[in-house]
Amino acid sequence: MSAAPNFKQELTGVFGHPVAENPSQAMVEAAYRHHGLDWRYLTLEVRPEDLAAAVAGARAMGFAGFNCTIPHKVAVIEHLDGLGESAALMGAVNCVVRRGDQLIGENTDGKGFVTSLRELTDPAGKHLVLFGAGGAGRAIGVEMALAGARRITVVNRTTERGQALVDLLNQRTSTEAEFRVWEGDHRIPEDADIVVNATSIGLYPDLDARLALDVDTLRPELVVADVIPNPPRTRLVRDAEERGCRVIDGLGMLVAQGVIGIEFWTGTSPDPAAMRRALEEVFGC
Ligand code: NDP
Repeated sequence: MSAAPNFKQELTGVFGHPVAENPSQAMVEAAYRHHGLDWRYLTLEVRPEDLAAAVAGARAMGFAGFNCTIPHKVAVIEHLDGLGESAALMGAVNCVVRRGDQLIGENTDGKGFVTSLRELTDPAGKHLVLFGAGGAGRAIGVEMALAGARRITVVNRTTERGQALVDLLNQRTSTEAEFRVWEGDHRIPEDADIVVNATSIGLYPDLDARLALDVDTLRPELVVADVIPNPPRTRLVRDAEERGCRVIDGLGMLVAQGVIGIEFWTGTSPDPAAMRRALEEVFGC
């Protein structure tokens, strides 16, 4: 626990691995300070075998909610009272919200992406090319389908995970999904509107790691997004900007999912700029 709670304050937090400086804590507490909210967001190390007791503890202590990171995003579900629509489809929860006396699991990763995207384009009717089919890829794929994307092409190194996401989208949403095995430099099809890197390629310290994509197929009409928050100016972001594409970086998405979590917990819509500044300080960018 990073701080002793003051019992007059409302509590939220994140259950996950210990980290020296938790970016989420810095970001959420910056928002609480900015808006004069007498709330705390605590970083709490929870071992897998202690998860049931930790959720019971959060209930007993009146937590308004908490985030879950790896390894708890799936395991937490059996300890909750219900799930939001996209969390139920994905089978993963990253944000728990107290509603009355119930703890409800939500997934804000994909919602954060769609919020960032809406600033540039409406997802409805669009063709998304999605690199990656892990937790972030599933969250973005499901939320884009729920937002009315026409077509989603999932490009993944491993067939099993990529096909599983495509099957989920085809069976449970009205979006048309297809799988492409990722071999060589992938060419973005001419009818694509949005390209997303939802893999961990480019994450610190692999600063120059390159997504295997034919950059000559990045047309200026495309919106290109990268989930990597650190560093935000990945090689994909730089390549896409050079080719005139409109770009969303991973910091934008991280802030947007944090905004949604704070809205769920407190009912206040926080200022994203204050939250982004706090993250930039942590990441030194
Ligand atoms: P997972 O481990 O669940 O999935 C990783 C994905 O990346 C898989 O599709 C994997 O492919 C692919 N991948 C990893 N390395 C390579 C490689 N060398 N070549 C090709 N494909 C590769 O991770 P998450 O989905 O949870 O997280 C992915 C990234 O998203 C992380 O960097 C995380 O920081 C970021 N993220 C950002 C958020 C934000 O708000 N900005 C929110 C959530 C996550 P395969 O299936 O073949 O193994």
